[in-house]
Amino acid sequence: MQERDTDLLVVGSGIAGCAAALAGARAGADVTLATKASQPEDSTSYWAQGGVAVSRGDPEAFKQDIIAASDGLADPEAVDVLVSEADEAVRDVFVDTLDVDFDENGEAPDYGREAAHSEARILHVDASTGKHVLAPFLNHLQDHDRVEVLEDTAALDLVTHEGRVHGAMLERDGELVPCYAGATVLATGGIGACYQRSTNPPTSTGDGIAMAALAGADVEDMEYVQFHPTAFAGEDAADQGTFLLSEAVRGEGALLRNGEGERFMPDYHADAELAPRDVVARAVKDERERTGEVTLDVSPLDFAGEFPDLQAECENRGVDPANGIPVAPAEHFLCGGIDVDTEGRASLDRLFAVGECARTGVHGANRLASTSLLEGLVFGLRAGEAAAGFEAERVEAPELLDSDPDLPESFAAEKFVRLRRVMDEFAGIERTPEDLTRAAGVLRRLKGEIDAYTRTRTSRSLYELRGACVSALLVTRAAAENEQSRGCHHIADEEGAAVDAD
Ligand SMILES: Cc1cc2nc3c(=O)[nH]c(=O)nc-3n(C[C@H](O)[C@H](O)[C@H](O)COP(=O)(O)OP(=O)(O)OC[C@H]3O[C@@H](n4cnc5c(N)ncnc54)[C@H](O)[C@@H]3O)c2cc1C
Repeated sequence: MQERDTDLLVVGSGIAGCAAALAGARAGADVTLATKASQPEDSTSYWAQGGVAVSRGDPEAFKQDIIAASDGLADPEAVDVLVSEADEAVRDVFVDTLDVDFDENGEAPDYGREAAHSEARILHVDASTGKHVLAPFLNHLQDHDRVEVLEDTAALDLVTHEGRVHGAMLERDGELVPCYAGATVLATGGIGACYQRSTNPPTSTGDGIAMAALAGADVEDMEYVQFHPTAFAGEDAADQGTFLLSEAVRGEGALLRNGEGERFMPDYHADAELAPRDVVARAVKDERERTGEVTLDVSPLDFAGEFPDLQAECENRGVDPANGIPVAPAEHFLCGGIDVDTEGRASLDRLFAVGECARTGVHGANRLASTSLLEGLVFGLRAGEAAAGFEAERVEAPELLDSDPDLPESFAAEKFVRLRRVMDEFAGIERTPEDLTRAAGVLRRLKGEIDAYTRTRTSRSLYELRGACVSALLVTRAAAENEQSRGCHHIADEEGAAVDAD
């Protein structure tokens, strides 16, 4: 790999990075899309199940649903942009450019409905929409004259000079080179790797958020980490990872039962299994602690017929869904991130951020289901266009040590175990001020160890560990500073009682 200059550097190849690259190229920029993914499965976008919400000609109802889900904390201007541009962006990119065949019911789209949506408005392809939009998107960009896709290539640090971002240091096969860029768009996704149980792929290590924060960019709303209530929790989930049993399964009638076989959600919320995600996640956690396990009872529906992929995945893991599927909450989505305006502009000159690593303001304290593919698409397009038109300028690049092939992978792996244990225990679904202080203390010491290591040797896994550690610190700091329980940030006192706003 050689030093390079590019008009626009996009880091990350999920939906948001692809949208930014497409818009940049359409605006006439030469785009370098650097991604540590070596296959589409390495991006969270690939795993999206439910689909993409659109306004269906009733933008006001869509806006109200987003704002209600956000616990009133969404930024109305950002929501307005998202909703007013949703239908056109989906038609332009997914339908006209990528030829995605969304499911139909007769001649009309088969709109799905998920919890907290006041109407059916979700376009989908089977229950695996992500792969059906991301794979063609990547193919389209690979064939684009103005886009060069660098796979298995990680950005480790931003190149900055006098408050302006000039690109990033890229690593592939242990080799490190600067990529100088007129503008840089971070699209590195979420922070699932900070928690033991997450629905995200292992690549979600918070790198972009950490790089931006360490360069001095503003980062906001990091306390709002959304946990999905129903991730697979069979015996091998700890070794083989978990997978999501989407809300659509409960939408079709599945019930949650505790270890004593009792249905418990009606005791927690009037909407029972379809209560807001954070309410269901806390209830599942409590019932697991109280009765040993929680299972998803799929007997009220034709599970195998309606969710064949999930049926097959359960069987692969030795679980017969007819006997109930063991579930537990898992980290799912980060509502906060790098603070940006409605064109994806961060607080540092020539730096942009899009998708899950960005805080656009549309999610406030909680995210409405099936709005993040849309957010990545709409704000990715806006940012790509706004970031085109700058020329690369060479400045002094940071001196990073060459990768050390002898640095044992186990170093980062062992530290990751410690980091995840701390985040699960002290900064998970429920937090107390005391626990957050404890977590911050451990994480600060870990950051010190990582810094000491990066002064003498380096590797991609070490930088991923740094990304996760800095992101985790930002979560604990934001959570400790926010004493109000809102949306998916839940502060409890030492006995576990909620400390509510007002
Ligand atoms: C199981 C599951 C189901 C979901 N279902 C839905 C749904 O139905 N509808 C919906 O709207 N949302 C859904 N979501 C959420 C949604 O999928 C994500 O929020 C969204 O896809 C994030 O897109 P992104 O482009 O920001 O990040 P990602 O898709 O995660 O892409 C990030 C990219 O950055 C790369 N990267 C990371 N760090 C670096 C680095 N240092 N250098 C280079 N590259 C890097 C990664 O390899 C990856 O390519 C779901 C999420 C999960 C986990």
